[in-house]
Amino acid sequence: MTIQKHTMTHLPLGDHKTAPWYGKDILSVKQFDRLDLEYIFGVAHEMHDMVDHIGTFDLLKGKILANLFYEPSTRTSSSFTAAMERLGGSVIPINEVKYSSVAKGESLPDTVRTLECYADVIVLRHPEVGSAAIAAKAARKPVINAGDGIGEHPTQALLDAFTIREELGHIDGLTVTLLGDLKHGRTVHSLARLLSLYKVKLNYVSPDILRMPAELMDELSQKGVEQTEYTTLDACLPETDVLYVTRVQKERFADEAAYESVKGAYVINAEVMKAAKQRMIVMHPLPRVGEIDPAFDEDPRAAYFRQMEYGLYVRMALLAMVLGKA
Ligand code: ASP
Repeated sequence: MTIQKHTMTHLPLGDHKTAPWYGKDILSVKQFDRLDLEYIFGVAHEMHDMVDHIGTFDLLKGKILANLFYEPSTRTSSSFTAAMERLGGSVIPINEVKYSSVAKGESLPDTVRTLECYADVIVLRHPEVGSAAIAAKAARKPVINAGDGIGEHPTQALLDAFTIREELGHIDGLTVTLLGDLKHGRTVHSLARLLSLYKVKLNYVSPDILRMPAELMDELSQKGVEQTEYTTLDACLPETDVLYVTRVQKERFADEAAYESVKGAYVINAEVMKAAKQRMIVMHPLPRVGEIDPAFDEDPRAAYFRQMEYGLYVRMALLAMVLGKA
């Protein structure tokens, strides 16, 4: 499968200080409705076309992003950097907070207040749930949540939904199976919530100790989402349109023995995937640590590397929106 090409939709890119997302924080997927998603996906298409045709353009020329990461990151941090630079802006990277004043004990609100003196938007990853909301309260400039502990990862969910739509053409009517560490995985928390805006069936496959949080399942039940829990994949793989694989989040375990007991619970490989449809996709927010056999990467259903690329376009769209240029 290749990324579909789209004709230019000519969405209004330019100065739009009255646009609804201008100056807004992006903290949770709860902020979005379906119309917002259609809009974001439209702008992301436009960004894709522009990157394909001209590579870089000056929509955000003169704007500065502070990329503040208190936890490790490869894709989120570098795709936000690439997104800003492809739009002509620049980046203050703070990936190693130990070399910043955080190591001297500076509080998150003070760090954020400092960075907004120099930057127009702040992207924050932090180990504590709710940290992005705390930062947003302290800041006058927009804060984008790039993962708050086991809480949410809204920009990942947006790029995940965009990936599903680009690859399968629609989201309504799909069966999406989330597999792995559903307890600690912030990507699956955000994605399940975001998918509840569509008519989807959700399957959750996890070891018993890593089940989807009950409060989140209740929240989705109230919205009428059909959800089924499993401990093995075999019963639900044949009906699955999107298999979303996650790693067991070692850093969230207090007890090493508990991690060891579940770390290799599921491995996706060619043999397992014989039971799946031919037209379906396998996604993963990455990094993978053994859950997907690299030999499966050549299978056209393996969408996880394409998923990373879609992330660039979605993050370009989000930066343009909160900076009043889309
Ligand atoms: N990169 C994703 C995250 O930051 C997934 C993961 O780390 O497993 O949540």
